[in-house]
Amino acid sequence: MDEEAAPKRDKNGPKFHCLPHSTQGSARMGTRKKVHTFVRVKPTDDFAHEMIKYGDDNKSIDIHLKKDTRRGVVNNQQTDWSFKLDGVLHNASQDLVYETVAKDVVAQALDGYNGTIMCYGQTGAGKTYTMTGTTENYKHRGILPRALQQGETNRIIASHTMNKNSSRSHCIFTIYVEAHSRTLSDEKYITSKINLVDLAGSERLGKSGSEGRVLKEATYINKSLSFLEQAIIALGDQKREHIPFRQCKLTHALKDSLGGNCNMVLLTNIYGEAAQLEETLSSLRFASRMKLVTTEPAVNEKYDAERMVKNLEKELALLKQELAIHDSLANRTLVNYDPMDEIQIAEINSQVRRYLEGTLDEIDIINLRQIQEVFNQFRVVLSQQEQEVESALRRKYTLIDKNDFAAISAVQKAGLVDVDGHLVGEPDGQGFGLGVTPFSAKPGKKSKSKKTFKEQLSSSARKEGASSPVSGKELDVSTSKTQLTPSSKEGDVKDMTIRERETSSIEPLPSDSPKEELRPPRPSTPPPKPVAFEDFKNERGSEINRIFKENKSILNERRKRASETTQRINAIKREMDVTKEALNFQKSLREKQGEYENKGLMIIDEEEFLLILKLKDLKKQYRTEYQDLRDLRAEIQYCQHLVDQCRHRLLTEFDIWYNESFFIPEDLQVALKPGGSIRPGMVPVSRIMSLGEDAQDKFSQLQQVLLPEGPDSVAFYNAKVKTEQKHNYLKTMMGLQQAHRK
Ligand code: ADP
Ligand code: MG
Repeated sequence: MDEEAAPKRDKNGPKFHCLPHSTQGSARMGTRKKVHTFVRVKPTDDFAHEMIKYGDDNKSIDIHLKKDTRRGVVNNQQTDWSFKLDGVLHNASQDLVYETVAKDVVAQALDGYNGTIMCYGQTGAGKTYTMTGTTENYKHRGILPRALQQGETNRIIASHTMNKNSSRSHCIFTIYVEAHSRTLSDEKYITSKINLVDLAGSERLGKSGSEGRVLKEATYINKSLSFLEQAIIALGDQKREHIPFRQCKLTHALKDSLGGNCNMVLLTNIYGEAAQLEETLSSLRFASRMKLVTTEPAVNEKYDAERMVKNLEKELALLKQELAIHDSLANRTLVNYDPMDEIQIAEINSQVRRYLEGTLDEIDIINLRQIQEVFNQFRVVLSQQEQEVESALRRKYTLIDKNDFAAISAVQKAGLVDVDGHLVGEPDGQGFGLGVTPFSAKPGKKSKSKKTFKEQLSSSARKEGASSPVSGKELDVSTSKTQLTPSSKEGDVKDMTIRERETSSIEPLPSDSPKEELRPPRPSTPPPKPVAFEDFKNERGSEINRIFKENKSILNERRKRASETTQRINAIKREMDVTKEALNFQKSLREKQGEYENKGLMIIDEEEFLLILKLKDLKKQYRTEYQDLRDLRAEIQYCQHLVDQCRHRLLTEFDIWYNESFFIPEDLQVALKPGGSIRPGMVPVSRIMSLGEDAQDKFSQLQQVLLPEGPDSVAFYNAKVKTEQKHNYLKTMMGLQQAHRK
């Protein structure tokens, strides 16, 4: 287009330049552009050569006023002006005017840029001729029919070009352009509009000599032109934020054409005669002000929703076909990828329930949609169960919000609970409670609780090797910390399996409220005690457990030494016995042989003498070893006492921790305390008894303590150990005191 439209030659010779193509093919937004201003001089035989001169590049007009003009311009007034423009059209054909002024604006409108072309000037200077042209002569047709032609909408030219418009009114033609891509796949399309504005005459009132209605009209027209000018000046000032578009209909109508994102051209029509020089000057001044205005042309891109949907549907169908091919290659038949209906969702819900109950081992993976629905149903089932548990509790208990202090104090006043929220005078805990009671605490149901814990023990043993029952690496539900089976008919929680034994504490359920953030929110069923005890030993009980173990090893070491000492003592004793026997033999032998006496002294032979010495030595050894043994026993008893203390603390602290962690009701807490009624069912006695104890340890104990005959029962053994520990403690203290005195 450049080549075509660039420098063209009028028959009079001047060069013309068309619009620069600054926005085409370059960045579509962000480039600011000035309003292009052109001047078209109406052809005349009486051209004022001495007053109007064009610059060599045809981009400027110099006006020179003679001092002796008819209206007597005062001497000291300015007589010379120079106006810089984008082009001067002198004796230009309609063709050239269109090429220079309008062609690019229209071309860019077809690319999505709004465009505005305005003709400004005094009445009769050729605005209408420029914009519309003469109707009878095709060659003389103006910008509007040519623009329609360029936009390939010839059909409607006739009806529009016929319209006559008054010199005293503004006339705006708007061509709406909507351009869709010829390729069907493109859902993007552009919209734009071209405003072709034939402004009313700009002449000043004094000059036109109007009167009455015409004067009024002219005043009005001039007003709107001055509003247009104000708006344009405001637009030219980059610092101005408010542009007065609403002042009149003209500026309002041109709002989105003057400012913002459009290509804008101002064509100023002037007379070439000396007599019109003042109006010509006024028009040129307007043009030069207009030149300061910048706009930012941008494409008006839109999306054809209908076409877009059609394209997406096509794409979807294609992908489904692709998937079908894939499935048949992978030997997967009858896989349906459509959204699930209610029946299918219900089936998944049932699968999830059966899976949670344990009656279904695996949920087969079919496709992504199904996996998502499985997870969805997990959530549904979980929240249903939460509600079921809560409503079961509500049937049994009156639940009061722990944060509802008013309700709590009311209950306290009524004497139903003490300050700690514990029930008063209701040992069975039935009928009333604060907070959520984790499970039945009624004595009649204790056996049930026991069973629950036993189940937990067995399930916790089971789970060690078992990973997620869901097959397939893609779907691993083992990441969930807890798993609840669906509630039984009574709504009681039957079982709970703790996964991830590595975690030192029981993870809170995600749905718990943040109000209880200080303590880990308790799961609806506490974990089995042996499991919890392992956890406890790793966290809060770690220090006491460490000391316990340390004491234990010292105790074991002392016991070992005591055992060795005892063996040595026994050996010495045996040797003493043998020596005594030998000595007795020697004695009897001597008695048989007759005794020698020398000055009252018994004479014995050397053999007997040696035996006596040996016995004496053995006795000494015996005493030393025996003393060692006694010291060791004292130490052992002392250590035993420490170990017992540690064990007791470990268990007590564990119980506190356990109850704190899992909010076991008070009456049950009592029962759970060491020596409590239901411990044997929950934590095996062997477990309690064998806290860190090994076989050697037990053996030493048996060696040290003479057990009464037939104390088979663990309870008896237990009681005995306890009583003895008490005695031993006192003995130890005494022994230590003695040792100190030595
Ligand atoms: P305006 O709309 O500015 O008041 P018009 O376009 O009506 O002026 O022009 C007044 C007269 O001058 C019309 O008869 C028109 O045909 C004629 N005229 C204006 N400009 C030209 C031109 N460049 N070439 C030939 N005739 C022209
Ligand atoms: Mg006109």
